[in-house]
Amino acid sequence: MIDELIPLELHEELNAFRHDLEKITSQHIDACPFCGKNEFYLIRSKPTTTYRCKACYKYFTVAVNTPFSRLTPFNWLEIIFINRIQNQSYNTIANNLGCSIEKVMRRDHAMIDYLKSHYHSLYQWYTKKQQSCLNPVLIEQHKVVNAKITTLLNVQNPTCIHCGSTDTTKVGNRTCYRCKRCRHSFNILNGTKLNRLPKPELWLQFIDLLVAGETNAQLEKKLKLTDNTIRSWRSTWCTMMKQWNCDALAIWCQSH
Ligand SMILES: [Zn+2]
Ligand SMILES: [Zn+2]
Repeated sequence: MIDELIPLELHEELNAFRHDLEKITSQHIDACPFCGKNEFYLIRSKPTTTYRCKACYKYFTVAVNTPFSRLTPFNWLEIIFINRIQNQSYNTIANNLGCSIEKVMRRDHAMIDYLKSHYHSLYQWYTKKQQSCLNPVLIEQHKVVNAKITTLLNVQNPTCIHCGSTDTTKVGNRTCYRCKRCRHSFNILNGTKLNRLPKPELWLQFIDLLVAGETNAQLEKKLKLTDNTIRSWRSTWCTMMKQWNCDALAIWCQSH
């Protein structure tokens, strides 16, 4: 029923991916993922069927070595995948499954990771589609984050962290201020992860690009920053988003 929503040339990858998901859902194991032998002990069946190989003695579940190992119940994966293709928002899916929106997003992201390493064309199509139908929660949280940053960069008279006075004035073009009462200087970003993050003039643009789902390579090119900088900015901003209670957006921006 979702076949007609997906370009024909992707059907082979689609079927292979759905087959993988079905296998994980059924928790059926043919061979030890470590040594390939096919005799194992059943260690437990709940919450996840866990085996131990009789040859190499390693423990494993059907999802070992996949991004899905902790994401039970496994049958949610395909439900979420199909619902996303049908343009259902994360909220709707979360309501239907009776779980939090973060749980839905974590599973969706695990699938994106998996597609990225196994089914590249389907991965590209799926992520592009995701970006074209950002759900309302993400749009809302994106606004919150932009507003926070704009406030941080433009505050006129922040409260002095030393004496509590608001008789303060900006020094320089960053986020440093001096208190006219106690004469101390302070940085309003002190104690946050943003304190040492350079180039505040790029912050808003960076967030926009993250939300748009740009990869590290694309960000590197567009902002002329190094790969290391992009990585550390991505992680810093995801931490800030969580601190600002924008967890869904943080999960969304964590990886692409
Ligand atoms: Zn083995
Ligand atoms: Zn002061």
